[in-house]
Amino acid sequence: MPRSGLISYDFLTMQQLQLENGSCPFCQNNNGRVVAQGIDQEYQRVLNRFTFIECPFDHHWFLKSWPKLDDFPKIYENYQTKNSQGAYSPHPWVRKIKEQFFDKHRLSPFLEFKSLEAQLRFLEVGSGKAHGARVLRQLFPHAQIYALDIEFSLHTKDELKKLNINIIECSWENFDTDLIFDGIMAVHFIEHIHHPQDFLKWAKKHLCKNGLLYLETPNRNCLCYRIFGKNWGMFHYPRHLHLFTDIGLRNLVQKQNLQPFSFGHHSSAAAWIMSMRNVLGKNALTKGPWYKDFFHYSHPLTLILATAIDLFLLTLKQPTSAQYIWCKKTE
Ligand SMILES: [Zn+2]
Repeated sequence: MPRSGLISYDFLTMQQLQLENGSCPFCQNNNGRVVAQGIDQEYQRVLNRFTFIECPFDHHWFLKSWPKLDDFPKIYENYQTKNSQGAYSPHPWVRKIKEQFFDKHRLSPFLEFKSLEAQLRFLEVGSGKAHGARVLRQLFPHAQIYALDIEFSLHTKDELKKLNINIIECSWENFDTDLIFDGIMAVHFIEHIHHPQDFLKWAKKHLCKNGLLYLETPNRNCLCYRIFGKNWGMFHYPRHLHLFTDIGLRNLVQKQNLQPFSFGHHSSAAAWIMSMRNVLGKNALTKGPWYKDFFHYSHPLTLILATAIDLFLLTLKQPTSAQYIWCKKTE
């Protein structure tokens, strides 16, 4: 493995995957204009070259050929949720600051249920380090909280057990349960799965009446994409299978008759950092010392600068790389 983070591929551990056809979640089409092409520069697990295309009917972007679900453990080996030395893994103090100053505020619409706390049940899907579930635990010390992902690291499992958060280790497709939730959250999740429309159906089925769903996903209509183009970090080959616009995201939830009541953007320092690493030809597996490697998720100056740019964009009501939507199940 390269020590400096500069690209030097370890071809012996990389695999050529058998891909399957991608499809647009709105119209199931598999053809369109090529938007961007790339390789697994960040995590170097697979040898394939990937192509994002734009559906001609609804302008949605998706991978023309994507990895099969069975291959997900291969492509997520060494991912940022498991590798604390990686360039996109936040330093513990970065996580603390983000939690206190940003994430608690982001999840505040769930507080509408606060008076019923002892009876509440929440689920975070695609949790990784279960960051959302941990913030929910701070907001709701007495609620039942569940975190679901295909795989959690042993360290994360230990931490979640201490916080009395229930661990469900399987894909959402295989989570066969009668549990009904008051709130479901999926942060940077729907762009990673094959069929986000099916996930929304599933989430709706597992929400109680008036239950809330919170989603965060990249918005490709952002300044960062316009500046970096094919090097925009949110292409994230081959882990992002879909890239939505704000209109696309709203259409997706409305198709399931979920009622959006709030949407907008959050600061996304990660998008600027990932894009810069792509430009510089650096991977995400390692990071250099702070005085040599400026673009990683633990560098204070870079994080402050990237967050400041996004906060400036937000005051101008311009989209950042990260959009969110809140919706309610009303029927
Ligand atoms: Zn389409």
